[in-house]
Amino acid sequence: MKTKNDRASWITGGRVPCSILPKVTRANPLRFVLLGAPGVGKGTQAERISEYYGVCHLSTGDVFRAAKDLQEKGTASPTMTRALNYMLRGDLVPDEIVLELIHERMRCLMCGGGFMLDGFPRTVAQAEALSEFLEEKECALTAVLNYELPIDQVVARLSGRRTCPGCKAVFHVTAQPPKVEGVCDHCGESLYQREDDVPESVRVRMDAYEANTRPLIEYYSKRDLLVTVEADGSPAEIFNRTKAKLKNVGPEVSP
Ligand code: AMP
Repeated sequence: MKTKNDRASWITGGRVPCSILPKVTRANPLRFVLLGAPGVGKGTQAERISEYYGVCHLSTGDVFRAAKDLQEKGTASPTMTRALNYMLRGDLVPDEIVLELIHERMRCLMCGGGFMLDGFPRTVAQAEALSEFLEEKECALTAVLNYELPIDQVVARLSGRRTCPGCKAVFHVTAQPPKVEGVCDHCGESLYQREDDVPESVRVRMDAYEANTRPLIEYYSKRDLLVTVEADGSPAEIFNRTKAKLKNVGPEVSP
């Protein structure tokens, strides 16, 4: 079984120590934000980036999916239950709920191991809140990686995507199949298709992306942080492209 940071502190929002310490701690930690429409393969790149650069993968979607398990056990807070209703429809969770959740997890943003935010920020209001927080703590983002892919390829990717409920690894039935059909290569759990990967939810998520998240491209471009990566080809090709682009950001962006 692969050793993987369980991100306990991020997932629960409590004062829970993560099972393994960051691989690297730096004076100026690497701090990335990932952007890209649903299905561009962001999750797969996130895993590779996290492993290669040693930064922790912080996904807000994973926090909501973990909360869904609590809801099934009847222990989710009323705020979280409200958030989950938005998520299950494929809609964005309102900013104030997301920001409350991020606020509870501020420690992760201050981690000396750096971070890679995936799924946050998703609106300009969220991006402004993040930048205010980082400025207050005298921290700066290293780069915002923006993955771009034509829509027909996005649809093909989403319909074949399978996720591990245990370690959150992402596979694809044809493009990146697990060694044994339906079983996670890393932890042996049965893979599943996310509820929000069904076609009706996918359409709502694409609309939400266009309306709310696309403006972030301009927001970060104006701040000279945007690094656009073409997301066609195999995961390895896209990752090589990512590394090459990040080299141009500065010599400090190294594993
Ligand atoms: P993801 O795994 O990033 O696609 O997130 C799954 C779902 O969680 C989204 O479709 C939203 O309903 C919700 N969600 C995750 N992150 C955010 C966010 N930053 N703002 C609003 N909703 C979010």
